[in-house]
Amino acid sequence: MLIGIPKEILAEEKRVAAIPDTVRKFVDLGFNVAVESKAGEGILISDEEYEMAGATVIADADRLYAESDLVLKVKQPVFNAQFETHEVEMLHDGCTLITFLHPATPDNHEIVKRLRDKNVTAFTMDGIPRISRAQRMDALSSMSTVTGYKSVLMAANHMAKFIPMIGTAIGTVKPAAFLVVGAGVVGLQAIATAKRLGGVVKAMDIRKNACTEAESLGAKVVEFDIPEELAVGAGGYAKALENEWIEIEQGILAPHVEAADVVILSALVPGEIAPVLVSGKMVSAMNPGSVIMDVSVDQGGNCEVTEPGRFIQRSGVNVCGIQNIPGRMAVHASWLYANNMYYYVENLFKNGDQIPDLNDEIVKASMVTHKGVILHEGALKAMR
Ligand code: NAD
Repeated sequence: MLIGIPKEILAEEKRVAAIPDTVRKFVDLGFNVAVESKAGEGILISDEEYEMAGATVIADADRLYAESDLVLKVKQPVFNAQFETHEVEMLHDGCTLITFLHPATPDNHEIVKRLRDKNVTAFTMDGIPRISRAQRMDALSSMSTVTGYKSVLMAANHMAKFIPMIGTAIGTVKPAAFLVVGAGVVGLQAIATAKRLGGVVKAMDIRKNACTEAESLGAKVVEFDIPEELAVGAGGYAKALENEWIEIEQGILAPHVEAADVVILSALVPGEIAPVLVSGKMVSAMNPGSVIMDVSVDQGGNCEVTEPGRFIQRSGVNVCGIQNIPGRMAVHASWLYANNMYYYVENLFKNGDQIPDLNDEIVKASMVTHKGVILHEGALKAMR
């Protein structure tokens, strides 16, 4: 079976789905691997390094897609201007694709239908359940870790202020004040990074467990006294709050948002639209030069004024709606993603003879299309 690793062609996407280390491991499992020439350019890995790991380098993307039985990608297939065709059309009938597809998002329904019509067996890396056995494959957590770290650095770069307390002959510069809303994977990494830089950090979450973890990283928790049964649901995950509770939360957050130099917004309930926790009025009350990093932008954002894909200014406040933050830290994002991908593929073919185990719980949860049918529950629900 030939695994194909194309170069990502989505604008500004520098990540790649395999690195030489994982190519070597695929070869050890008995796969053949082909890598498109310059696929590793964005992470500073040459074609020769892939060849030394055991891959064949193919210059022509069209040929790579046509010959591969299993294509590993980072982002969803898009239109390829060079070949004037969609990447889905470049996949051969009946082949397998593993990538981030976000199949429940309406923007991606067309791609899901194309994959179905092309008879592709497609798996989405965002469908991997957060269970212990799947931890090594959990690409969403990997990308959230990168995002939590990088979002703090991006905010720091937009500030005309120090982050740590600095003693000088003239006097003491006060440390920057951070507020992190949503202390999940992104939020906890953001807290840790802001603390390392010397910031003073507050955090808010509706799950008590998340608040305890935030506290253990040195954040001061902003208390929100919401009954546990309204905030936490099955499996310990957060529940979407009713509007009246969102309004109460906004009221509690308002003075903390106003006092913050940096607000990191990463509140989300899986499978839901992100709750709007920072209104336009709250943004106007902030000091000019402050920064809001709204990383929940793909689910609509936690801030009312966020514009997807843009860094804008409102009343002198910088509001960041940049998507694909992991793509801005491509070397380690690819290292994490490629390893998650390796463990996913290893599990998929664990029965040997390179026959996928479609009954595995992890595989089932992440399967999107198979034999001309859409199987992903989230996608089917959203398409109804
Ligand atoms: P997560 O599920 O680990 O964390 C989300 C947290 O939000 C949870 O702790 C939850 O309890 C909390 N939450 C839910 N409702 C809340 C509310 N009303 N108030 C306060 N907290 C609330 O998710 P994650 O992996 O940390 O991802 C967070 C967000 O970051 C998601 O929207 C994700 O898509 C986004 N993200 C963006 C990028 C990017 O490049 N922009 C990359 C990775 C993740």
